[in-house]
Amino acid sequence: MRYLDNIAVASFAIASLPVVADVPVEKLIEQLNEQSGEQPTRFIICARCHTPITHFEHRIEVQHSHHHRFTNPNGLVFNIGCFAQALGCMIVGDPTQTFSWFPGYNWQYAFCEGCGEHLGWYYQTSGSNFFYGLIAEKLIATSQK
Ligand SMILES: [Zn+2]
Repeated sequence: MRYLDNIAVASFAIASLPVVADVPVEKLIEQLNEQSGEQPTRFIICARCHTPITHFEHRIEVQHSHHHRFTNPNGLVFNIGCFAQALGCMIVGDPTQTFSWFPGYNWQYAFCEGCGEHLGWYYQTSGSNFFYGLIAEKLIATSQK
């Protein structure tokens, strides 16, 4: 029942917002569940529009850590969490290695599928390895019952 409780939390978050453009929440949750092969316990949602982005079970370590702190060429500091999957993101732009924080990985932008907020980056090797590096401040964890 915990899974259903969390759907309720995520759905309530969506329903409580004044305007959200046609977000396929149920579809996303279904996909997240299938991907993990287990019942997600805590969703991670967009801080701005509350679209489900990923969940705790998708947290991974890249270069020996889940959390990374990076400074971009403009001096902006980002706290990044690494996730194996983030179906609430849309991937935008051409893959590039320019200023890549993860050697060997090309990056593209990852935006919220619900509101278009920049949530982080999608990283992929020339092979099939990929992950998402998402900005901690742009995300909210749903509460666990
Ligand atoms: Zn959003």
